[in-house]
Amino acid sequence: MSDELIPQGLWTGDYFNEGSGHDGIFNKLKEECGVFGVYGHPEAASLSYYGLHALQHRGEESAGLCVTDGGEFNYHRGMGLVKEVFDKDRLASLVGDCSIGHVRYSTSGDSRLTNAQPLVFKYRDGDLAVATNGNIVNAPKIRRDLEQSGSIFQTTSDTEVIAHLIARSSKEFEEAAKDALQQMVGGYAFLLMTNDKLLVASDPNGLRPISMARLGDAYLFSSETCAFETIGAKIIRDIEPGELLIVDRNGLREDRFAEPQRKALCAMEYIYFARPDSDLNGSNLHSARKRMGKIMAQQSFVDADVVTGVPDSSISAAIGYAEQTGIPYELGLIKNKYTGRTFIQPSQELREQGVKMKLSAVRKVVEGMRVVMIDDSIVRGTTSRRIVNLLREAGATEVHVRITSPPFKNPCFYGIDTPDRRELIASSRSIEEMRREIHADSLVFISPEGLIEAVAGNNVDDYKGGLCMACFDNDYPTRTDFNGEEKFGCSC
Ligand code: SF4
Repeated sequence: MSDELIPQGLWTGDYFNEGSGHDGIFNKLKEECGVFGVYGHPEAASLSYYGLHALQHRGEESAGLCVTDGGEFNYHRGMGLVKEVFDKDRLASLVGDCSIGHVRYSTSGDSRLTNAQPLVFKYRDGDLAVATNGNIVNAPKIRRDLEQSGSIFQTTSDTEVIAHLIARSSKEFEEAAKDALQQMVGGYAFLLMTNDKLLVASDPNGLRPISMARLGDAYLFSSETCAFETIGAKIIRDIEPGELLIVDRNGLREDRFAEPQRKALCAMEYIYFARPDSDLNGSNLHSARKRMGKIMAQQSFVDADVVTGVPDSSISAAIGYAEQTGIPYELGLIKNKYTGRTFIQPSQELREQGVKMKLSAVRKVVEGMRVVMIDDSIVRGTTSRRIVNLLREAGATEVHVRITSPPFKNPCFYGIDTPDRRELIASSRSIEEMRREIHADSLVFISPEGLIEAVAGNNVDDYKGGLCMACFDNDYPTRTDFNGEEKFGCSC
């Protein structure tokens, strides 16, 4: 993945991504968050631990779990990775058959323990825990209105607004939750837990993924299906836009809080965010990304010696490109997975000597070769330039860049931390200007139609209009401007 929240042209410690998602290469778009819920399993906390571990790429800043056995809540949250926040003793202390968990990435300046989720509250009807993935575009306005009428917020997380709306309602819990959800504009998947039930909701456009599985009699919910595979659960289905599921001692009830609007699942989930072993809308992500590579090959063949993908998210597409063209796929770029948040950054002197901690070009593979480099997006352009230069320094004679997303021109309002429009290289430059800036011999982006075809597989007709592609085409599925209080990034 290219890009990036980096000072232009710098190659500093900050340039390396601290606490990013699964690629961890340079700075780049940040995933939003991941949620995992369990109802009806005596080892709910342990299942959630493994589920959250599988969702770790969606947020590395904090992790949390809240558990109940029908009585008081028991919860733990901490800063860091799932394995750092929970140890065996901590997990053993979280006894209950119902739980919700969360891994979090936050926008800068907002990374603090009080904002770690699940958020937990006491209100007149008992306990309430909330975990969210996504962003509520009008949350600042709702929050301001609530504060003006007396609410005191405990966190700076906009997720807290739903708890206040529920607590202030005179209706019983489920109706209060529906009313609250109806006020939320944006892209989100909510898990709400009380002392005796679990609620799951997806926004009316289905922008953020959330799926359901069964393990024995238990119900499980996850931002990505890869977490179900980890614990041997059987995938049942995705939660529909505007749907509200309620699980309690009487089983599962399917309800809705809003009529479904235009289906608009985030296209970047397919291109980059979700793990390749996850399914979205019934499509496996690795297969969809391979199709993106094949379609790119059909749209933009170039005579070359090797194809390589920027690890990890572009490897599937690179394999597809290679299969389609017959040009061999090679590991021309290698990621070091072990430079984490606590890694000591090199001095300027060492950096100048070429200490490349997170990504290296494989000289024996690319030297003297014409290379096709597949990547998933270009945001600011600085990281793409750096990777192209890595390949050239290792002896590549030509570097042809193929991008499996259309040009990224507009910010995201639905939970992806994107820079201001002015910092997006594609918002103000032609493709030829971008090619020159990243030092590539050629540069081609997949067409929007090609992307839809790749995502849909054999179901193109069903899929038309089924994706949010607003960061490419400026067609946002919801209102985004609430008195100028639009907010980029993630409110969870
Ligand atoms: S604007 Fe882009 S990143 Fe945001 S939800 Fe839509 S497709 Fe995803």
